[in-house]
Amino acid sequence: MKLDIKELVALADRSSGKKENIVLESVSKDTRQKTENALYLPIAGERFDGHDFLLDAIKQGCIAAVWQEGKELPAGLPEDFPVLYTTDTVEYLQKISKYFLKKVNPVVVAVTGSNGKTTTKDMIESVSSTNFKTFKTQGNYNNHIGLPLTILAMEETTEVLILEMGMSNFDEISLLSKIAEPDAAVITNIGESHLEQLGSREGIAKAKLEIADGLKQGGLLIIDGDEPLLSHVKGENVLKVGFGDSCTLKLSNLQTDAQGVSFTLEEGTSVYRIPMLGRHNIKNAAYAIAIGHYLNIEENKIQEGLENLKVTSMRLEMKKGRKGTLLINDAYNASPTSMIAALSTLAELNDISRKVAVLGDMYELGSTEENMHRKIADHVAPSINHVITVGEKGAWIADELKKQNRKDLDVIQCLKKEEAQEPIEKLLSKDTAILFKASRGMVLETLISTFTEEE
Ligand code: ATP
Ligand code: MG
Repeated sequence: MKLDIKELVALADRSSGKKENIVLESVSKDTRQKTENALYLPIAGERFDGHDFLLDAIKQGCIAAVWQEGKELPAGLPEDFPVLYTTDTVEYLQKISKYFLKKVNPVVVAVTGSNGKTTTKDMIESVSSTNFKTFKTQGNYNNHIGLPLTILAMEETTEVLILEMGMSNFDEISLLSKIAEPDAAVITNIGESHLEQLGSREGIAKAKLEIADGLKQGGLLIIDGDEPLLSHVKGENVLKVGFGDSCTLKLSNLQTDAQGVSFTLEEGTSVYRIPMLGRHNIKNAAYAIAIGHYLNIEENKIQEGLENLKVTSMRLEMKKGRKGTLLINDAYNASPTSMIAALSTLAELNDISRKVAVLGDMYELGSTEENMHRKIADHVAPSINHVITVGEKGAWIADELKKQNRKDLDVIQCLKKEEAQEPIEKLLSKDTAILFKASRGMVLETLISTFTEEE
């Protein structure tokens, strides 16, 4: 960013200190990082109050500060140090981000959904950047603080801005959408995360649809066309992407192999290819293609963008295991929806004769957690030969599978990761694929690393 202090003064309640020749180039809320010409934005948290660290921030390169009205300035602060006063520093951050966004005026694409936000955002960037100067949310900076910081981190010459919007409760996406005023918005899917706060999947759908609250007039809304809870969403500017007949942008001709997937879209003859596994990733890619069309990007450039995708680690990441085993690392996180998606990816792999699923605990499912785990058993396709569960909650999946008493399925239940090592070791071989899936807290990658080829 680049903002003159005078522009910031105009957005503050009042100010003090010098105002001549001060141009802010970034915003910093963390005094542990070195910055240059930054605006210090203290946030009063539960354990720490950023206002206590202004002098440290100045040492790190901050040249002006936002300040909550009523807090005492630190002793020793130079008289002429520029201070912008406000009743709420986070609201002020949101206000200046909105101001800067209007000034730069890029095409804004917003992405929300229970699963697949980051993947879709990365795919859209891959497509958009073949033609436009594109900036996107870094990491998971997708909430009421991260999103404005993302906006303020873009350069003034940005042409397309892709914003990931996360939430854990009602009204959060609405707020983010109203800050960003997107030209186009994507709802990747409706899953079960944050069920505890939102009460039901209907509640989750309602919260995701808040992304339309700030959508520019005539803006494009792209949704998961296979989700019944979104079937009531209709309109000229609504695009329903998916596999079912009710979709307005329909995917077909899927071919999956160990290198990735190819597919076509009903509307044209182009064949697209992505270097990733999973039906859900095809859908995510279709969202990116739809945005590519919206941005008038040529077909061959859209294809090029998708083929050059860099796969973010631990999301259906393909890895070479010892003895030629194909390891599929999907241990970044897990919810029932994403676990079911990962299981069908494994089941649909061509050219592989033995399929193994290592499934761990899923967290944050509230009172329905046991039921949710047990239900996973119904999604273990007949083409999967071995299921190894890890953890106390994962054990429910094993228990349910054992009850089903399937002839061609071997089920092993391990309470600890270490116990899973030996049975997995025995299965390593050239014609075997092993999927690893669990919630972040399980840190399942420590188990995977013992089977990779380098060890
Ligand atoms: P977070 O809430 O952690 O930011 P996210 O929404 O950004 O998550 P990703 O990190 O892109 O999601 O993907 C997480 C997992 O969700 C993937 O590993 C995959 O298993 C699953 N997933 C991705 N896309 C979809 C989709 N469209 N539908 C269902 N599941 C999906
Ligand atoms: Mg994410």
